[in-house]
Amino acid sequence: VSTILHPRAILALTIAIQAAAIGGCARNGAPAMLGLNGSAGERRIAPRGFEVPADRYLAHVAVLSHDSLKGRGTGDAGNEVAAGYIAGQFAAAGLSPGGDDGTFFQEFTITRGGRLGEGTRLAFEGVDVPVQLNETFVPFGFSSLGEFTGGVVFVGYGATLEDPPHDDYADVDVTGKVVLMLRRMPEAWADASFDANPAVFTTKMKLAEERGAAAVLIVNQSADEQDDLMPFRRGNSSEQIPAIHIKRAAVDAILAAGGEPSLSELQAFLDAGHGPVSFALEGVTATGDVDYTVTELITRNVLGILPGSGPDRDEYVVIGGHHDHLGERGGTIHNGADDNASGTAGVIEAAYALAAVPDRNRSVLFMTFSGEEIGLLGSKHFVDNPTIPLDAIVAMLNMDMIGRLNRDTIDNMLEVQGLGTGDSLRAIVDRRAEDYNFKFIPDDSALGPSDHAPFYRAGIPALFFHTGLHPDYHAPGDDVEKVNASGGAEVTALVAAVALDVIALAEPPQYVVVDRPAVMVRAGSTQAQQSGAPRVVIGIRPGEADESGLPGWSVGEVTPGGPAAHAGMQAGDRIVRVAGREVGGFGDYREAVREKKGGDVVDVVVRRGSQELTLSVTLQAR
Ligand SMILES: [Zn+2]
Repeated sequence: VSTILHPRAILALTIAIQAAAIGGCARNGAPAMLGLNGSAGERRIAPRGFEVPADRYLAHVAVLSHDSLKGRGTGDAGNEVAAGYIAGQFAAAGLSPGGDDGTFFQEFTITRGGRLGEGTRLAFEGVDVPVQLNETFVPFGFSSLGEFTGGVVFVGYGATLEDPPHDDYADVDVTGKVVLMLRRMPEAWADASFDANPAVFTTKMKLAEERGAAAVLIVNQSADEQDDLMPFRRGNSSEQIPAIHIKRAAVDAILAAGGEPSLSELQAFLDAGHGPVSFALEGVTATGDVDYTVTELITRNVLGILPGSGPDRDEYVVIGGHHDHLGERGGTIHNGADDNASGTAGVIEAAYALAAVPDRNRSVLFMTFSGEEIGLLGSKHFVDNPTIPLDAIVAMLNMDMIGRLNRDTIDNMLEVQGLGTGDSLRAIVDRRAEDYNFKFIPDDSALGPSDHAPFYRAGIPALFFHTGLHPDYHAPGDDVEKVNASGGAEVTALVAAVALDVIALAEPPQYVVVDRPAVMVRAGSTQAQQSGAPRVVIGIRPGEADESGLPGWSVGEVTPGGPAAHAGMQAGDRIVRVAGREVGGFGDYREAVREKKGGDVVDVVVRRGSQELTLSVTLQAR
């Protein structure tokens, strides 16, 4: 295990430079306050209480999305510089450190990349089968480290079903054995019922581990000539035992040596819906070693506290947004000005705004997250390792992509999700939206793919502020020039005002369960069409980007009743092909449907676990 630590020096230097530069900024630049009524009983400021300066808001976005920060990829130096900048701003706004050991930072570790070590090997005794790393076998990215040895047992698809009843392990003892199984599952099982999807690697691994297997060998289900192996790419976690992807030719040689039927024959039997065909390969032992190094990277959330002074000062409102973005992908810097320098700038300016309010009842924790783009890692880490008691947090307000406000198009008007998650939230947001002249798209649910969701799942009422997707989403064109600074500043002022009302509430919002995913309803606009946005909708919301190394574009949420839902698409699917075109992101998807119109039917190929499905989707006009 090698650890790369980015020099603290970078961080310290950034903060020092900032503190020097900001001395003046804080004096001159405190946000203008209008109409504080100061009534002790009401503790509510008058309409339009905050004016967030758009030029300063834009300056934050420009710094954070500057090329020199190289897209703020989690674990990269540019992300550290961003964290340092945010901490400097928090200090200048007068916040106290809210992180570990009296700092503004909460560190956490991510693992990334990983390289196979020289010790990686696989051999079969009792049968003459040459095997070679990367040619005939390769460890899976989710494999554990370590040596193994054991007799080989074929276990079909390595699955258990409830109905029809089926257990590939029923007649074999695999304790200490190396189990050999097929990838995915037979089509015949499409309507079967089961506890956990038998087609996915995690289920196959869990079943093998539960039965005491020493290691798992998985062979492709498809008999295609290429029989590709998945390149080794370590994810963020690993299984308990070694797992190796092995080619069909090697498996056939082993089976033939033992006088067993070929893999295709065994598979045909299983695919026809027949019962288990599991057996030990007499006299065949597999030995191997999975050896890789993992790169561990330190990254950090940034936390600053604005203490309250009222009777409820031990309670907190969290105002947050993620500061990481995609970094460099395919050699191109993805600056993420809207996603999410815009929301980070919002958190910073909300801190300046609220710090200028005298006599706040509750305290506020301002917080920016790292690791959002690779699976909400920063917000999940905080919820699992809170620096203040979670039950002291009365609400979480999240800003993610608030930089493309366009009040005139439904595509980019403000959307506020989570309105139903706390009993008093809707009234507060409605009133403040009126103050700030915002029409917005409401949604009661807080179950959407951003940092508020882990808080909501932990029992905290949560709001999500967002100004919509666009063709530059997760693309290199998400740059500062396209950010609507006055719009972002106004959303920030609204968020600060909503926070102030929550801070002042006599009773904290009561948590309400809204047990359905948030949906984004965005109809078309001529402007969006001219900018290249598709004229059709498929009815999904993209999911979190991840480090799985799997191809395609992950589906975060499926709009109930929408085209994708009708076609059977599910959250967690990965779209790999649309209308014959490989899809790696929104840009590819847009290209694939550019010429399509409402009513057109396209084949959408999705990966679900290790299964690949072709769904016929009837596109809907925007
Ligand atoms: Zn984002």
